Amino acid sequence: MTDSVVVGVRVRPLNEREKAAGKSAASAWTVQANTISKKQNPDDRKSSSFCYDSVFTPDSTNDEVYMTMGAPIVEAALGGFNATIFAYGQTSSGKTHTMLGHAADPGITPLAIKHVLRTTSASKTRTYLVRAAYVEIYNDKIRDLMNPLRGDLVVREDKAGRVFVDAEETIVESYDDAMAVLERGQAARHVGETKMNARSSRSHTIFTLQIESKGGEGVDQSFRASSLNLVDLAGSERLKSTGAEGNRQKEGAHINKSLLVLGTIINRLSSANGDPAKYGHLPYRDSKLTRLLRPALGGNAKTAIVCAATPSAAHVEETVSTLKFAERAK
Ligand code: ADP
Ligand code: MG
Repeated sequence: MTDSVVVGVRVRPLNEREKAAGKSAASAWTVQANTISKKQNPDDRKSSSFCYDSVFTPDSTNDEVYMTMGAPIVEAALGGFNATIFAYGQTSSGKTHTMLGHAADPGITPLAIKHVLRTTSASKTRTYLVRAAYVEIYNDKIRDLMNPLRGDLVVREDKAGRVFVDAEETIVESYDDAMAVLERGQAARHVGETKMNARSSRSHTIFTLQIESKGGEGVDQSFRASSLNLVDLAGSERLKSTGAEGNRQKEGAHINKSLLVLGTIINRLSSANGDPAKYGHLPYRDSKLTRLLRPALGGNAKTAIVCAATPSAAHVEETVSTLKFAERAK
């Protein structure tokens, strides 16, 4: 894998509600190979087509998305690179389906957990230590999903650019150990949700595996440490300034800001294509999300972004905005 940033777009199937809405909600997009295009109105002169590393159609499965977008990033993380996989998109576009899925159709996070733990526990040449953590960022505050009652976690950086967050880390030796952390964190999120409506679409969640290893006698004895971050971002829909008040407006402002900063950093990394001399100023400090992920954004880090979109004609504007974010990222 040579590119430091890989960008894919995934179009989900129309849902029942969209189908029932009839023609106004019919699919507004066509996919051909790695290009997605807006269907032409006869009186529409301007065509819009967007091209990415991969475009997944409504028929694509979580397995396919994982094999194309996830597995190379996980291999890089196992090889010692810091790595992150993001799901970006408006609420209800398919981010959580892609990152988490469900028992019958696991998403990128459980598939990555399986890939990592299968590799680390079977290795005969290296000894691994894997630790899992799960946090949520809501209103620019970091909450430890393993200790949901604790307050905002503090992020500290040292001069070498290392980042410290005192989230609880659990040593995991098997797929089941790591899935237990994921499930405990999911349960903690849902508790919060009854108190603050629809919080899940207003927060970023970050599941992290810290992977350390050293080689045995007679083989490569180097020590390696890397982190693999699996991130389900907050919904990217813009809150209109009129209509949103108080908390809603504050949430929206934090989300817009963090996604904007993330987009700017990824855009610079991707245009520099792995050459730190060309990065320019990277505004990590402008949001908690990017401060936390700093070690995995830049340097030798590997990043994949899956931009999720609904094909519905009723949401063309939001989908165009997602496709533009994806375009800036590649
Ligand atoms: P988001 O996390 O972006 O808000 P979800 O992942 O929760 O969106 O998706 C919204 C709904 O659409 C869920 O019921 C989900 O199961 C369904 N869905 C999303 N993507 C797909 C897909 N590719 N195939 C089938 N169902 C999907
Ligand atoms: Mg979601």
